[in-house]
Amino acid sequence: MQTEQYIKAGKIASDVREMVRNKDWIGKSVYEICEEVEGEIKKRGAKCAFPVNASINEIAAHYTAEPNDPITIKDTDLVKIDLGAQIDGYIADTAVTVCYDAQFDGLVQSAEDALANAMSTIKAGVKASDIGRTIETTIKKMGFKPIANLSGHSLDQYTIHAGKSIPNIWSIGGFSLSENSAYACEPFVTTGDGGGFVRNGQIKNIFALNSRKKTKNAEADRLLDYIWTNFNMLPFALRWIVKEWEEKQAKELLNILIKKKAVQAYPVLIEVNEQRVAQAEHTFIPNEDGVTVTTRIQ
Ligand code: MN
Ligand code: MN
Repeated sequence: MQTEQYIKAGKIASDVREMVRNKDWIGKSVYEICEEVEGEIKKRGAKCAFPVNASINEIAAHYTAEPNDPITIKDTDLVKIDLGAQIDGYIADTAVTVCYDAQFDGLVQSAEDALANAMSTIKAGVKASDIGRTIETTIKKMGFKPIANLSGHSLDQYTIHAGKSIPNIWSIGGFSLSENSAYACEPFVTTGDGGGFVRNGQIKNIFALNSRKKTKNAEADRLLDYIWTNFNMLPFALRWIVKEWEEKQAKELLNILIKKKAVQAYPVLIEVNEQRVAQAEHTFIPNEDGVTVTTRIQ
């Protein structure tokens, strides 16, 4: 547990998140957004814990820009920008939804309210299932639906999903939060017409190392070493390796590593009824009296 690094990463991530919240992104491409937000994280002295996600409308999560991705934000879109900063592998994971259609302002607010209410209940020993209940109750009271199969998670050094889940609905059993452990809480919300679940989409543009076992292909092995050296076991994007390899070759080498199961690819997650999804997220460390929300504005 390295509280100092968690706090430092949290300060950087929350400053960047507020910059994202206050900026007008209409007309910008997702490539420009991801590159700009990642640049802001680095400018402040952290590394990116994962590629910035810019997931539009019914895409709930796990979309990051392809190299020169032309998809552009329209004046009716709702965009979840999920970003991560890390210092020595200690991660701050936070997200904001920007919305340009007033019809969905309530949806965005319900994700923010669910997160705020959840944070207000936290101290060491609180049950994860009770956090899920708070999130679910807040969202349903406002007439919306939580996404049941997305959840927050415990964090560890160089590990975003460290094994424990913070649910967005009430469920039986579960664990109690430990003092001096880091967690992320991330309510996802859809409309009354949504199914309240996500499914895997076809697109996969976020990757992470799975194993460092060599492949017998010298250039693929060089990419394997490059990934380990630069990203450790944390997620990365094709955008992050085209600085070293030309795009076509980078794709081919990446596909070799995926086939050999040295790298895994994460599909985008889409609301089952293709309804819009909003998200809010904080990283926090519980203590005996309450909680340190590392990504709260100081
Ligand atoms: Mn996140
Ligand atoms: Mn997260």
